Amino acid sequence: MRRKNFFVLLLSLMPVCSFAQHPFKHWTEAIETRYDIKQPIINYILAINSADTSSFSVEMRIRNIPDTFYVAMVAHPEYDDQYWRYVEDLKVTTKKGKGEVFRKDSALWKITAGSNEVVLDYRIKLPSLHNEFRSAWKAFLSPTGGLVGGPHSFMYIVGATLAPSYVTLHIPRSWEIATGLTQTSDPKTFFAASTNILVDDPIFVGKFKSWLFKIDDVPHRLVYWSLPQANEFDTARLLSGIQKIVEQAELLFERFPYRDFTFMLQDGALGSLEHNNSVTVGAPVNQLINDMDETFAEIAHEYFHTWNLVRIHPIEYGDINYRTPPLSKGLWFSEGLTMFYADLLMRRASLPVFDSTRIAHLEHLVRRYLASPAYLKYSAETISLASYGPVGMLGDYSASTHLHGEILGALLDFIIRDATGGKRSMDDVMRQMMENFSGEKGFTSKNIEETVHKICGCDVHPFFTDHIFGSKEIDFNKYFKLAGLQMNVALKDMLSDDGKPVPDLRIYSWQKKNEDFLRIAITNPQSCWGSAGLHTGDIIKSVNGTPIKTTNDFRQVIRSLKIGDSIALEVERPSGIIKINVLIKGYQQPEVKIQHLSALSQKQKNLFTQWNE
Ligand SMILES: [Zn+2]
Repeated sequence: MRRKNFFVLLLSLMPVCSFAQHPFKHWTEAIETRYDIKQPIINYILAINSADTSSFSVEMRIRNIPDTFYVAMVAHPEYDDQYWRYVEDLKVTTKKGKGEVFRKDSALWKITAGSNEVVLDYRIKLPSLHNEFRSAWKAFLSPTGGLVGGPHSFMYIVGATLAPSYVTLHIPRSWEIATGLTQTSDPKTFFAASTNILVDDPIFVGKFKSWLFKIDDVPHRLVYWSLPQANEFDTARLLSGIQKIVEQAELLFERFPYRDFTFMLQDGALGSLEHNNSVTVGAPVNQLINDMDETFAEIAHEYFHTWNLVRIHPIEYGDINYRTPPLSKGLWFSEGLTMFYADLLMRRASLPVFDSTRIAHLEHLVRRYLASPAYLKYSAETISLASYGPVGMLGDYSASTHLHGEILGALLDFIIRDATGGKRSMDDVMRQMMENFSGEKGFTSKNIEETVHKICGCDVHPFFTDHIFGSKEIDFNKYFKLAGLQMNVALKDMLSDDGKPVPDLRIYSWQKKNEDFLRIAITNPQSCWGSAGLHTGDIIKSVNGTPIKTTNDFRQVIRSLKIGDSIALEVERPSGIIKINVLIKGYQQPEVKIQHLSALSQKQKNLFTQWNE
């Protein structure tokens, strides 16, 4: 049904030959391996020994290379795990003997070999975990499997990021391989057409459960790696839920932007990350048994990033680099609209969602939005910049670009639907963004404004000026009214599950890189902490006269506080050391109710029905 609608819309509204940023200008560009005669030729051999899972080795065979060159390890724009810290035994050999290695910077090495054929050898000594959960995208090894590859494993040749490479895996005989890298006729050898692909296609290895499914003939693989003696879960439900999410994404974009896709799910890990044509997802078996819907929500989010972030990318996200790339002003769209669509894909797929209805979901979002004054102080672009920036970029405020962007996307969706009499929606914006900004050219917020304008034929300049580039208060009812809805807000005491007032504990401690003392972070200047005069960045000298050494110790002290307690903090700031007493109080949060207006026009009724279907 939805697909048919899209098709009619495409024929009637899209210019017939609007191929925009088509990736290929000539058929020869579609040939898999293209190279410049001067480019180096690289083959990696990654070897794992299941008897010693503390490290793995990488051999990098390079031909066609100058006498002196640089190798580096890539910094991920959001999750720079700095695995250059774990490189050991880096050696350079040539047919003539040994070359020389100079470490120029933390993630950069200068190699002088004097030969155009060089072999680099190194080991990655994996960091040991101390009872904490692993992040699902980080390299790890265990006797029954692990995750390798990506920025955690491969050095690359600086200045030659378009050079293709092969990766051969030496792994235990009984282990399988799952990766987004291109398969070759050798089941243990894979191909990466560029360094970007090499480092954004992690390699999952081990003994796992594996399923294959096809949507529109495009192969998709689901792989689950479990810890030894893990309980069983409903694998058929997991597979079917993921299939439904994939189907809905295909209905939205009408095609897949990849040749095949791999869902890599793992026990014993949390968090998840998007990649070129795969996702790494932490899915502890207990979560799959007790709350599989939570796993679906996470998968829907990361999977949607395949389009929105990996393909449709902000202008700041360029080629890979060993230096941390600049912060992005566009994450309100990349993260916020991904939140918006993860929820929508789940609803369209009839999968259970946290908020039963779209209205309940909006209430939930607006409540969180109104609870923080940050959104009235900082623009969507500034909050985007701060989302992966250092603590303290927003001063005594805390904000989520995911939440902010989802709300802005939801409001733009109302505007587009209203302006086009329901013929168009944010779906059309996403397809147009994919067409225009999934190639070399990344987008700016201005480009999004232009795209929305093109789709709705309406003036969204004031909306962007006020809320994307500015921080003007949102008149929610102006937009909800378009769908015949009205919001009411009341401030209510924050209560625990058993109805008792909750103490205001909106403070935490953090450490700057290379500092061995703790600093304070305030998340709301109106909290009892902010009102008492504390500020984000204050250095903690003592709490109730006792020095505090770790963030965990600070958390313990804060968590033990009750309403009516008093706590004395001694803090240092450039002006000197001061003592601040804080009286712990309860606090209020907004309660949001969205209801239907009593008298509705046919247009409002139609808009609501379409929006809610
Ligand atoms: Zn995300």
